Amino acid sequence: MRQWPYSPAGRFLLYRPGQSEPAARLGSRALTLLPREGVQAYDALVRVDEQGPWIEYAQSTERFGGRLEGLTWVRPDGERWRLIPDTGAPPPGLAPRLSDPDAYRAALALHDALEEVAPGSEALRTVARQIELAPFYRCPACHNTFSRREDCALCQGEGFVSEWVDDSV
Ligand SMILES: [Zn+2]
Repeated sequence: MRQWPYSPAGRFLLYRPGQSEPAARLGSRALTLLPREGVQAYDALVRVDEQGPWIEYAQSTERFGGRLEGLTWVRPDGERWRLIPDTGAPPPGLAPRLSDPDAYRAALALHDALEEVAPGSEALRTVARQIELAPFYRCPACHNTFSRREDCALCQGEGFVSEWVDDSV
């Protein structure tokens, strides 16, 4: 289960503080500044390391472009851009996502079972990929810990929340 809302399959519009028009678009790990200028397909890519997602500029000599903290892009200049999930029609060819919580819960259970009986298998990799792409992440309030999950008001005992839920504000 992811520890942050951002998923490589997620699509977001980014807003600068105090602006009502989006300043960038993010989808399939590629970030594009708006309005589009130049010929390159994107301006930055989202990378993920053990601390979570971070921005790598594609063109600039300084490649580190800050981190995604929850649903906020904290830029090197200190400006904080908000990520709002893009509800428009997904572009064709995008990988399907497990958007139903029941299906996601079943995938988590299947993942645990496969880890027991089929570690390293193709089936396990497929299920892990679906979990990674799904629009859910580990509850930021109870961290899916057994003792706190049951009474958690944010996730209602599920241990996970949807990518719409932001804990960075
Ligand atoms: Zn919770």
